[in-house]
Amino acid sequence: MHKKKTLFSLITILVSGIILLSASFLTSLASTVSAQIVETPTINYTIVIDPGHGFPDPGSIGKNSKVKESDLNLVVSSLLADKLRKVGINVVLTRTDENGLYGLYSTTYKKRDMAKRKEIINDVKPNMVVSVHMNSFTNTKLRGAQVFYDKSSEISRELALSIQNFFTSELPASDKGVSVGDYFMLKCTDAPSVICECGFLSNPEDEKLLLSPDYQEKVANCIFRGIISFINI
Ligand SMILES: [Zn+2]
Repeated sequence: MHKKKTLFSLITILVSGIILLSASFLTSLASTVSAQIVETPTINYTIVIDPGHGFPDPGSIGKNSKVKESDLNLVVSSLLADKLRKVGINVVLTRTDENGLYGLYSTTYKKRDMAKRKEIINDVKPNMVVSVHMNSFTNTKLRGAQVFYDKSSEISRELALSIQNFFTSELPASDKGVSVGDYFMLKCTDAPSVICECGFLSNPEDEKLLLSPDYQEKVANCIFRGIISFINI
């Protein structure tokens, strides 16, 4: 009986020790993780991320799934924002929910939405602007991710090349190179500004990939690495 009691105490001590050790391991793991997550910017660098479209403008619609481009733009933009914030970069998103920036719906809503996005960029005076979109085309065979820039901005071309480099090596059918685009968003600032078209919602293979959280993460990571290698930090 006494022996059994001793054995029981020994087991209790051992188990308590293991619990204590695990607890301290978890605590140190938690502090390592939280140390990597920088809540306040530590680098004097601001990026405006612009998730394209927003209710009532869905942008493109997935051919099979009917997914809204505006929703996917927000997912990829949010993943990208998290990654940039974790390395200490200040990030401003032009929208953080499904709604566009139109105010009241009317025939001029699109113009007002664009004006609002420009106003945000003018207020923030960022070091960089990155718009996130999904592409669509009548030829459903067309697929892959491509970065657009304004032809008047050499610095934007450099940023586009840096992101495209990762698109080309990491994402399928994304070897078309960067392209010149004549878009309002690319003319809102003198800072490097690009539009990332992350794949075609009109192509069934791209659509399927873009719906997968793993692929969304992969796309955001390509943009993140392209930005980091461009600003060289
Ligand atoms: Zn779009």
